Amino acid sequence: MKVYKFGGASVKDAAGVRNIAKIIATCEQNNLLIVVSAMGKITNKLEELNNAYINGDDNSQEIFESVKAFHFEILNELFPDHHHPVYDDIANSFVEVEWLLEEEANDAADYIYDQIVSIGEIVSTKIIAAFLNESGCKVKWIDARNFIHTDNTYKEGKVNWEKTEQEIQKQLVPLLANTIVLTQGFIGSTSENFTTTLGRDGSDYSAAIFAAGLNAGSVTIWKDVPGVLNADPKWFDETERIPQLSYHDAIELAYYGATIIHPKTIKPIQNKNIPLFVRSFIQPDAPGTDITGTNNHLPVPSFIFKVNQALISIFPKDFSFIIEENLSDIFSLFHKHKVKINTMLNSAISFSVSFDHDAKKLQELMADLSLHYKVKYNTGLELVTIRYYNQQTIDRVTVNKNILLEVKSRNTCQIVMRDK
Ligand code: ASP
Ligand code: MG
Repeated sequence: MKVYKFGGASVKDAAGVRNIAKIIATCEQNNLLIVVSAMGKITNKLEELNNAYINGDDNSQEIFESVKAFHFEILNELFPDHHHPVYDDIANSFVEVEWLLEEEANDAADYIYDQIVSIGEIVSTKIIAAFLNESGCKVKWIDARNFIHTDNTYKEGKVNWEKTEQEIQKQLVPLLANTIVLTQGFIGSTSENFTTTLGRDGSDYSAAIFAAGLNAGSVTIWKDVPGVLNADPKWFDETERIPQLSYHDAIELAYYGATIIHPKTIKPIQNKNIPLFVRSFIQPDAPGTDITGTNNHLPVPSFIFKVNQALISIFPKDFSFIIEENLSDIFSLFHKHKVKINTMLNSAISFSVSFDHDAKKLQELMADLSLHYKVKYNTGLELVTIRYYNQQTIDRVTVNKNILLEVKSRNTCQIVMRDK
């Protein structure tokens, strides 16, 4: 049993869909589950649509039309016969969003978000399934919401593992015995059958959930890069592909912000010792990266670079010490404002935290913190995380930088810095 996951970049246009069909054509015709996300950058567009709708902006219809046009253009290229039933199927899927947009936006914002944004995965998988079937590779389309069961945390659904695994074992395993199955990443449903999403870029996580439920032999994530690299080519000139990676290093890299795999992906498959292969959909036969239970650690230092960081330093107003009570208080405020901490450092009289800068969240967090603490902050910073660092690698990334914060553990060094 295998699980394949294709992300938005692999299906950003008709050529991408054709390329997937080529990859699938070489596979066995059963015991393969294909998990696909929304096409190209459609999730960003749907987020725009969601915001416009919630704010009552008058361009929401225009954004929605562009989302539809994007998909119909791909359909036109893939299905010259305009009587093909996929045209009606896609049109009907969009009608559901249309109905929602006609109502006033009275429900909770996160709930609305999930109902709108999930349509990207629905239409993408319907188009791809129809094309695969048309081109002679028989697949069955299923709705992931019948399998991935979550709680009511909209935008960040927490998986109900027991129910999810049960459903997968009962309904999906027998289906897969006879055919390839294609489904959506990123989405699930509550016990009342409302749609939830698993957090941005959550399709990798979906693939891992399905793989764990299926006790799959492997998961393959098909990417537009040759595998996991030791640094993002966007920031570094010299990068290397990492051929073998332990689950542990993969979790650490993803956790610190390497965008290659969603951080939640590794744990479920590690628990079942399922290997994860990262492969290039551009060069499907190239070696890529194998993530397994190996004890070998990364052969080279790895760099994870994040820009647009904010750093807050928090001091007790009376210059007393920072004690456990303060920390618990401070953490609960970060939790309340949904600010995810990237680095933190505690000293006797201050506690410093860096996180992705979001002006609104920063302002609200500052307002709350200032009630009990003296707070200082900086923005426009960079955070570099080096896994398996040494002094030479630190020197290399801090040339011409002022260091504001440096946190070291045995294997990982994090530096918050800005240009001199
Ligand atoms: N389409 C979703 C997103 O862009 C999920 C994913 O791509 O993994 O966030
Ligand atoms: Mg994506």
